[in-house]
Amino acid sequence: MTERSVIYLDNAATSPIREEVLNAMTQAMRSDYFNPSALYAPSAEISAEIRRIRSEICAALHAPEGEMYFTSGGTESNNTALFCTRKPKGSRIIVGMGEHDSVYAPANELKARGYDVRFVPIMRDGTIDAREFENLLDESVSLISVMHASNETGGINDIAALVKLAKKRAPKCVFHSDGVQAAGKIPVNLRALGVDMYSVSAHKIHGPKGIGALFIKKGVSAKPLLFGGGQEKGMRSGTENFPSIAAMREAIRIYIENEYATNYSKISKYRELFKARLTEIVSDIEIITPTHNSVPNILTVAFKDVRGEVLLHSLENYGIYVGIGSACSSHHESRFKSLLGLDDRHRDGVVRFSFSEENDLSEIDFVVDCIKRELEILTKYRRI
Ligand code: PLP
Repeated sequence: MTERSVIYLDNAATSPIREEVLNAMTQAMRSDYFNPSALYAPSAEISAEIRRIRSEICAALHAPEGEMYFTSGGTESNNTALFCTRKPKGSRIIVGMGEHDSVYAPANELKARGYDVRFVPIMRDGTIDAREFENLLDESVSLISVMHASNETGGINDIAALVKLAKKRAPKCVFHSDGVQAAGKIPVNLRALGVDMYSVSAHKIHGPKGIGALFIKKGVSAKPLLFGGGQEKGMRSGTENFPSIAAMREAIRIYIENEYATNYSKISKYRELFKARLTEIVSDIEIITPTHNSVPNILTVAFKDVRGEVLLHSLENYGIYVGIGSACSSHHESRFKSLLGLDDRHRDGVVRFSFSEENDLSEIDFVVDCIKRELEILTKYRRI
């Protein structure tokens, strides 16, 4: 593909790799190509380096005692969490209705396998309804999975409060949270959250695709999803993907340790100015993302009398790339928009703008003008 000038506003789907991250990755590919399980010295060094990276990531996420297992990304981490914890046959599993498909689809599979899977309704901002959640809790609950931040709206669930509630009413349950859209966007303290498992993925924070991790707290019983050579303490077989692991370390280091505060304020400023300009120029829009209780990089909006997908393609003609919610599964209709309780004229017009610190405030007027122009054309045709 040739490069052209683009305004990339779909960073929640994936984000461009950063120069420092790419350097760490290519350096590891060039020089550290040894199989970490081999017996010679360079392999032992890589193996030791992987151990160090594991503990650095645990430290960055303030993890309690436990293990951080490297996986091929958020999807594998979530699948491992759902399928691999030990749970009595037929026991209750609670999952948020707005979860990413990599939790929602495994939950449906578990339902087909005879578990009592219950989906908790979500509210307009994409977070789960805590009262409905509480009503589903009892001693038969073996597993709960509620995402930290919604990929559709950016809304943040109060995981610490939900864990506290769950542990009181369902003391044996394992609590998993999908942190793919939260880690690197807001400070994450796994000890304070109290979760038993937490999923992360590197490509949402300018790392490479195909690498992520699943944290499993000490004492949680889980068996592997992939069997084989016994890497990752037997929990995830397959030769360790050291170049991606090294790159993920770099991506997390940049975000969480060094630039978090600056990035956060820069991105929220972009979002707030974008939102202000959009509401000023374009009428009849519904802002879905909550202002306060959300990750700073997502703004989801419902436009009136237009299909989000049509607007997405219209903006593409200007080199502007946006998302329509479930971008990682945009090959099928998002089940999410039907959950938001929007009126008929806004329901199909959901568009997700997601920013990164690489966006520049000078883009905002151009993007909003393009949206206005295209909406005028699209809604005119609709009326004819
Ligand atoms: N969970 C959430 C909330 C996501 O947004 C995504 C991807 O968009 C995933 C999981 C899947 O992560 P990966 O693409 O690393 O498999």
